Amino acid sequence: MAIRCASAIERALEWTVDYTHQREAFGRPIAGFQNTRFKLAEVKTEAVVCRTFVDRCIEMHKDGGLTADDAAIAKLYTTELLCRVVDDCLQLFGGYGYMWEFPIARAYADARMSRIAGGTSEIMKEIISRTLTPE
Ligand SMILES: Cc1cc2nc3c(=O)[nH]c(=O)nc-3n(C[C@H](O)[C@H](O)[C@H](O)COP(=O)(O)OP(=O)(O)OC[C@H]3O[C@@H](n4cnc5c(N)ncnc54)[C@H](O)[C@@H]3O)c2cc1C
Repeated sequence: MAIRCASAIERALEWTVDYTHQREAFGRPIAGFQNTRFKLAEVKTEAVVCRTFVDRCIEMHKDGGLTADDAAIAKLYTTELLCRVVDDCLQLFGGYGYMWEFPIARAYADARMSRIAGGTSEIMKEIISRTLTPE
């Protein structure tokens, strides 16, 4: 699920970069507005940090060292992040973001599933919280 979310975040960013450079409002591409550029910069930052942690989890898994709480952290973080990122990206599509013809709309609906399927966010927090006991 974490790998899927890291990929979905990167794809949502690609779609949004493409769209914001094509779509014009007030005589210029919406990618020219500071709000758009800053929002895309935030999403890029989150995508890179997310990918770095997920890649580290893959390495730990390959070495046999990925613990249940590491996996729960990956699942909780990436699924919650995906929902936030897709929501931010969809906003930049305006009304088209709500149309099924645009893949960002499908991504928005699909992202919501990830916080439930494979174990809910609340259960991930239960698993993580069990590690938080005094030494
Ligand atoms: C698209 C999709 C695909 C799925 N695919 C599969 C699959 O292939 N194989 C499979 O086995 N299952 C699958 N599931 C089921 C999925 O794993 C469960 O939906 C998920 O684990 C939540 O269980 P539940 O639906 O019974 O919700 P419930 O357990 O009824 O939870 C309802 C709410 O109560 C909260 N809650 C429950 N227990 C606690 C607790 N102890 N503390 C705090 N809050 C709690 C939950 O977080 C949630 O918010 C899929 C679900 C979806 C949506």
